[in-house]
Amino acid sequence: MKQVRIKSPGTVANLVCGFDILGMALNEPYDIMEVKLLDEPKVIIHNRDNYNLPTEPEKNVAGVVFLSVMEKVGGTVGFEVTIEKHIKPGSGIGSSAASAAGAAVAANHLLGNIFSSDEVVQFAMNGEKLASGVKHADNIAPCILGGVTLIRSIHPLDIIHLASPDLFVTVVHPQIEVRTSDARQILRQQVLLKDAIKQWGNIAGLVTGFMKNDLDLIGRSLEDVIIEPIRSILIPGFHEVKTNCKEAGALGGGISGSGPSIFMLSKEEKTAKAIESVMKDVYNKIGIDYNTYVTTINKKGVEIL
Ligand code: ADP
Repeated sequence: MKQVRIKSPGTVANLVCGFDILGMALNEPYDIMEVKLLDEPKVIIHNRDNYNLPTEPEKNVAGVVFLSVMEKVGGTVGFEVTIEKHIKPGSGIGSSAASAAGAAVAANHLLGNIFSSDEVVQFAMNGEKLASGVKHADNIAPCILGGVTLIRSIHPLDIIHLASPDLFVTVVHPQIEVRTSDARQILRQQVLLKDAIKQWGNIAGLVTGFMKNDLDLIGRSLEDVIIEPIRSILIPGFHEVKTNCKEAGALGGGISGSGPSIFMLSKEEKTAKAIESVMKDVYNKIGIDYNTYVTTINKKGVEIL
């Protein structure tokens, strides 16, 4: 029987000034998936975790991806998947993208890698559409390719894989719910020209910083004058976390995805760990439960084990 076991990483989308266009893969947390190729056209889903995610293929992002692959290849193939999820759904660290990207990569592997990398991203995007209502690739692309990715365009798909520096990433996930739909709805549809100029200067600076491995330029460019001032309202403690983390030596950071997780980049592991303590102090004081991760940028993306 053909089967594959994969590791699918968490991701940070909406990389500060790179709303909807820049994403980055993490070495932790990650999901494990085992996928079997079936010789009949059906999808079977087993969840090996406590998140109570749906097992009906049409309601699970992995299922939707398998169905879209089956529609494309036709014939009598199907897939059985066991998902061991460690990335909490709704955390803002790409839980749905890990399942969608993992399913797309595993299906392609089992079918003999008949699809291009762009096609694999397209299949995975069908899953993201189920989770958030819109097709977007800023979690999917880094999840599949690893490192930092720029989604220059969705129609047509144009993904640029950027060099990623050896930075440390500290993430805090306060255990509150921020609905992706709410986080989108509160955004203003228009921006001031002066803010747009600032934002595109920062995006260009951030991309250049990644490509030239210029860590101070990355730090200076981690500024978002359009989305963060609005979205941060939904995350208690956000400003305190950001200010205190920067004082503790973080290069910078911001909201991960549409929140509630917050991430910070650092040059050194000891700074990343000090930042974790700073984040814990803020949420201990406010009285909100949390999870934290101290990790690095994942350069491999979805991995076949
Ligand atoms: P995140 O940014 O952490 O991925 P999302 O809001 O994008 O959070 O996705 C989580 C939503 O997707 C939840 O409503 C969840 O029920 C749904 N979902 C369906 N299938 C899956 C899956 N396999 N993994 C994670 N979330 C899933």
